[in-house]
Amino acid sequence: MEAKEWKEKLLMEKKNGYDRMPAGEREAMNSYCQGYKAFLDAGKTERECVREGIRLAEEKGFRAYERGMELKSGDKVYLNNRGKMLLLAVIGQKSLAEGAQIAAAHIDSPRLDLKPSPLYEDSELAYLKTHYYGGIRKYQWVTIPLEIHGVVALKDGKTVNVVIGEGSEPKLVINDLLPHLGAEQSKKTLAEGIAGEQLNIMAGSEPMEGEEKDRVKLAVMKVLYEKYGFTEEDFISAELEAVPAAKATDIGLDASLIGAYGHDDRVCGYAALRALLDLEEVPGKTAVCVLADKEEIGSVGVSGMLTHAFDTFMEDLCDSQNVPVRACLEKSFCLSADVTAAYDPNFGDVYEKRNSSFVNYGIGLCKYTGSRGKGGASDASAELVAYVRRIFDENGVIWQMAELGKVDAGGGGTVAAYMANRNIDTLDAGVPVLAMHAPFEVVAKLDCYMTYKGMTAVYMN
Ligand code: MN
Ligand code: MN
Repeated sequence: MEAKEWKEKLLMEKKNGYDRMPAGEREAMNSYCQGYKAFLDAGKTERECVREGIRLAEEKGFRAYERGMELKSGDKVYLNNRGKMLLLAVIGQKSLAEGAQIAAAHIDSPRLDLKPSPLYEDSELAYLKTHYYGGIRKYQWVTIPLEIHGVVALKDGKTVNVVIGEGSEPKLVINDLLPHLGAEQSKKTLAEGIAGEQLNIMAGSEPMEGEEKDRVKLAVMKVLYEKYGFTEEDFISAELEAVPAAKATDIGLDASLIGAYGHDDRVCGYAALRALLDLEEVPGKTAVCVLADKEEIGSVGVSGMLTHAFDTFMEDLCDSQNVPVRACLEKSFCLSADVTAAYDPNFGDVYEKRNSSFVNYGIGLCKYTGSRGKGGASDASAELVAYVRRIFDENGVIWQMAELGKVDAGGGGTVAAYMANRNIDTLDAGVPVLAMHAPFEVVAKLDCYMTYKGMTAVYMN
C-alpha cells in the first residue's frame, strides 16, 4: 500500500464537520435550528419546556397516556409528570421484551430562584431575594436584563402562571459595583466577588402615595396583585425563576452559531423530542424520550431522573404487552443526551486537546464523565461505544469523541449513571457548548443538527 492509503486505513480522520457534511444538508440544518431557537424562546423554565413539548407532540398526533390504555405498534403517547418532566413513547413493531431505545435529556437550567419571602425594601428601592439553582458563576448574573417566569400556587387551589419582563414589558436587573469604588471587591476571587446573598434583583423604585413604611415595596406588590392576583404571602407557595431576558439568536458574522440561555440541556432535549416527533416510520423497538427536571441539582425529587415516575411509565408500557419491566430494561439502550464542554482556545489550558470536543465536529460521545478519577461516572462499555459509532456512521451522523477537560481540572456528571443503575446500557453524548452555565451560552448549528440526526439513529436502531 502507498503511504497515503496506510494513513487512511490506520489513522483516525479528524476533520471539521463542514468538510464532511453533504452540501444538501445545509437547508435541513438551518430549518432545524430555526425550530430549536423558537423552542428556546418558548421554554425558559422546565415547566415551559414541558408545555411547549406537549404542544409540539400533540401537533404530531401524540396522546396523553393513561394507565391501562391499550397500545399497539405505532401508537404515540406522552406522560406529563407534574408539569416538570415529560416522557414520550412511540410503540415499536417488536415486543418490549426486546428492549426500548431511550434518549434522556434534561430541561432544567441554572437560574436564580426567588426565595419564599423574597420582596423587601432598602433605602427606598425594592428588591427580590434569590437562591441560585445549579452551578452558576455568580458574577455573570449581574448587570444583565432578567425576566421572571414561573407559577404562584394560591391557597384556593388555583395556580397562576407568571411571566414578568417578556416582550416590551419592563425587565429586572441585579446591579454590580462601579469600578470607581470597586478596589476592594476587585481583590476578591471570581467566586467571591459577588456573594450569593448579593444576588438581589432590583424590582422597583417609585414609592406609593401615603405615609406608610416600605412604600416602594408596597407599590411593587400592588403591581403584582393587579396583574396576577397574588399577595406577598403567596410567594411562599410559588416557583418563580429569574432567567436571562435574551432571546436565542444567531452568533458570528457567518451565523454559524446560536447564542441563548439554557442550551444546557435543552439543545439535547429538543433534539431528542424533535427526532421522536419526526419519526417517519414505526421504529423496530419502542422509542422513548425522557425530558427530566432537576439534573442541575442532582437529578433528585419527583421530577428528576432518579424518580420512579420513569420506572412506572416503563412498567405501564410493559404491562400492556405482559412483559416484565426488568426484562425490557436489561435489553434497552439509553443515550444520555447532555452537553459537553467545547474546546475554547481562549482558555486552552484547562482542556486536553487530543480528547476534547470541538465546535463543528458533531455530537460528542462521552464514554465516561465524572471527576477525580472518573468518580460518579457510569463508564459505558467498549462494546456499547462501538455500537453507537456504528449506528452513527451508518446514518451519516457526524460525531466526535469527547472528554470534559483535563484530568483533575474539574469534571461533571449527567443522568447517565442513574439510567445505567437501572440495568440499562447507557452512553453519554451531546452538543459541545461554549460558556456552559453562563446566562448566554453558545453552540454550533452543525452540532445541534447532528445531535438531532443521532437521536433519530438511536430511535430507529
Ligand atoms: Mn446538562
Ligand atoms: Mn449543567
